[in-house]
Amino acid sequence: MNGFPLLLDLTGRRVVVVGGGFVASRRARGLNEAGAHVVVVATDVAAEIAALGVETVPRPFEEADVEGAWLVMACTDDAAVNAAVGAAAERRRIFCVRADAAASGTARTSAVARHEGITVAVNGDDDPARSMALRDAIAAALELGELPSRRVRARGAGSVALVGGGPGDPELITVRGRRLVAQADVVVVDRLAPRELLDTLGEDVEVIDCGKSAHRHNLTQAEINAVLVDRAAAGKRVVRLKGGDPFVFGRGGEEWLACVAAGIPVTVVPGLSSALAGPALAGIPLTHRGVAADFTVVSGHLDPGRPADEGVDWPGLAAHAGTLVLLMAMERLDLIAKELIEHGRASETPTAVVHRAATAEQRVVRAPLAGIAAAADREGVGAPAVVVIGDVVDVLQ
Ligand code: SAH
Repeated sequence: MNGFPLLLDLTGRRVVVVGGGFVASRRARGLNEAGAHVVVVATDVAAEIAALGVETVPRPFEEADVEGAWLVMACTDDAAVNAAVGAAAERRRIFCVRADAAASGTARTSAVARHEGITVAVNGDDDPARSMALRDAIAAALELGELPSRRVRARGAGSVALVGGGPGDPELITVRGRRLVAQADVVVVDRLAPRELLDTLGEDVEVIDCGKSAHRHNLTQAEINAVLVDRAAAGKRVVRLKGGDPFVFGRGGEEWLACVAAGIPVTVVPGLSSALAGPALAGIPLTHRGVAADFTVVSGHLDPGRPADEGVDWPGLAAHAGTLVLLMAMERLDLIAKELIEHGRASETPTAVVHRAATAEQRVVRAPLAGIAAAADREGVGAPAVVVIGDVVDVLQ
């Protein structure tokens, strides 16, 4: 049918559902949620309908039941009754949906997906399975932010979401993170975030690239904080898209505090940290029964020669038996390895460098602790990388 799609405002309007079974109860529920004044006419009313608290008329259908209705649903399992309902509605110029024979009715129901103010109604050539399959696919895509459902103009106040993008593969961001990226007016992005997601943004989305690396700061942290606050204060939905998890060596805490200080609503969406993802993608379990019962994640960007109260307690970590995970350690890897060995870690402890995990350039170098810095040098593997130290490195080899 070449029908004309409409969205009906049924608030407080009388809608008559004839039938008391499964289909009738689904329709009654949907109509009730839409605010309609639902009247169910049926000899036998299902418990689900009774539970809705809608008006019920417990007897067989009579012509006059459709009187005063804006819409009628014929949902009995008796085609003759449904036809009679349809005819009664037709005589009064009331639209009627036939559950048993859509084509015989004067209106159709749709398979519906709702997403943040958007309603998608699918009518699949009177084939409910086809409608529902397409509806489900659209609903999933909307939920994942794969369709441009973003409001062009933000409603209400601006906000900042500190979104952990995971280690780099755009498939390794959370569903919530992905959705917020799709809805953002402004995306403030780091070098190690899943930058492929930027290609999915609309042209009107402002992208601010912090391009942060160990040596190159396009924007200082204070400037980043200021830009987050500034755009949110202008009513924008700001996503701060970071690599890994925002609160693991990500300075997310500072951004959070800056937003709070400025009275900007701020949320955090956890991300899969490279500290966890890097080893996993290199086939290294951080814990393994009988091998390691804990792991410690440490930043290697401070000089290991510093006193423990100023930085990392390398002697303590060297003496402890668990797995060690180092981030930002490539520059000082040789010094760190020496420090650990000097304080008691076995020089032959299996060690791996996982470079650019979760990207097309991922590379893994393995060597004993004493030789890992040289091996990485030889292979030309530098930052960004996660270093894993411990017997777990070889456990799946
Ligand atoms: N918040 C991030 C860490 C930021 S610090 C997270 O949770 O992952 C930056 C360091 O993270 C890099 O120097 C490197 O040690 C590590 N890193 C980030 N992404 C990486 C990746 N894809 N592969 C290997 N190491 C990575």
